[in-house]
Amino acid sequence: AVALRKFTGEPTVADSVVSSDSVELVLSDLGAKVSIMKQASTEPEKGGLKTPRFLRKYEPEVWASFPLRPPVVTVMGHVDHGKTTLLDSLRNTNVAASERGGITQNIGAFSVSLSNGAMVTFLDTPGHEAFAAMRACGTQVTDVVVLVVAADDGVMPQTLEAVNHARNAHVPIIVAINKVDISGCSPEKVMNDLFSYAGLQVEQIGGDIQCVLVSAIKRQGLENLIDAILLQTELSDLRANKDDPGEAICIESKVSKGLGSVANCIVRWGSFHVQDYVASGRTWGRIRRMLDDRGKSISLAGPSTPFTLVGMKELVEPGSFVFVMKDEEDAKLFSEKLDSDIYFKKLQQTALQVSLQRASEKLKSREGDESIGPNMEPSHLKKRLSFIIKADVRGSVDAVLECIHKMKKEEMDIEVIHSGVGAVTESDVFLAASSKASILAFNCKVPSAVIQHAKHNGVLIRHYRIIYELLDDIQSLQEGKFESSV
Ligand code: GDP
Repeated sequence: AVALRKFTGEPTVADSVVSSDSVELVLSDLGAKVSIMKQASTEPEKGGLKTPRFLRKYEPEVWASFPLRPPVVTVMGHVDHGKTTLLDSLRNTNVAASERGGITQNIGAFSVSLSNGAMVTFLDTPGHEAFAAMRACGTQVTDVVVLVVAADDGVMPQTLEAVNHARNAHVPIIVAINKVDISGCSPEKVMNDLFSYAGLQVEQIGGDIQCVLVSAIKRQGLENLIDAILLQTELSDLRANKDDPGEAICIESKVSKGLGSVANCIVRWGSFHVQDYVASGRTWGRIRRMLDDRGKSISLAGPSTPFTLVGMKELVEPGSFVFVMKDEEDAKLFSEKLDSDIYFKKLQQTALQVSLQRASEKLKSREGDESIGPNMEPSHLKKRLSFIIKADVRGSVDAVLECIHKMKKEEMDIEVIHSGVGAVTESDVFLAASSKASILAFNCKVPSAVIQHAKHNGVLIRHYRIIYELLDDIQSLQEGKFESSV
């Protein structure tokens, strides 16, 4: 097996295993400089897994033999619609009244266990920023999105943003219409508006999206919400083998007094035990302690469990994978070789770096080159350009969308993955980074922090005052003449 390290200066990923001979043959034909690192063919998993078990493809009958795993849920929605209140109420769902108000540890996620043994894990940071940030890192940890819409306020801009984030990540949505305790509110209107503005058709009006009515503050309807999440889990057929060596995603990490570097993780596959050797990126360690979301010591963490891992030599990078290794030698070897991490870091870099500008450069200079990353084949670039459109007022957004619609040409498929009124936000940048889109801002603000953020993530933002300039730019993109500027 071979790992392609550098290819014409681009981070490049070998996404399938081929013989080194074929690789050499193909690459020399293309005139590319390449160095091939041969690895021992015996014990292929020594020093690091090539593909994490949770990302591997399994035969249907093998998959069906794994037990169902609990879902990991992110709560999204417009500001003040009750996301935080809902999470607080859910967090206390299975806590004895005497314990309520006690110290809950903020480890980035918490689990709700039900009397029938089922469990649901919620990410603690509501909103799409965290969701999109994880996605931009190349790690998708969310299985279900709960979209909170306040019954008294209805569908708002961030409601639509959240829908777009979930859709782009192909994560199923469950609608929770909140604040139904407020008299005179109209859940029916919310349902109809979700259909009209976001194309989300809930079951109550003949669609297939589950929708529950809740009052986060009065703790009403929470059981129905959990039931809906569990039904979705079955539909999504979420499974994991708890008997395999553990694989987790780090959601945050810090140096904690008395404990050293701690990593808050969510198990994706297999199980973690105290005393296990673990490795992540450049660091490794032996698990000294594991704490659950209430700060209690635990000895085992199975699939979808959030836990704090104590015992890493150094800080684990959030968004990276943490693997249980066979022994100390293996853990060290892994961190030295960085095999898995390099693989995923490269995926991540590729996703972030292939911005529209670079796409247009590629179109200009390297037609037919197949080396720009796993999801970005040139044919794809030629056919589909993704944008986020932001403008000062609704009328402008509609005008821009209308013009773009008219501009669509057979050889260039323009996709608007999100549009909205108001300034360009960090959330737009995250969405753009994770969807490989560019942001076109029409007559609206682009705060300097957002510009920095965009630069950091390789996202192109263009600002326009006149609609024809915007259209001209899209035109020139087609000809491969797009310049980056804000
Ligand atoms: P977030 O911005 O979406 O996290 O919203 P919060 O959870 O901070 O809630 C915003 C406001 O709505 C707060 O004043 C809450 O007390 C209130 N709120 C949240 N849930 C409910 C509810 O079910 N009913 C009512 N009447 N108010 C609620």
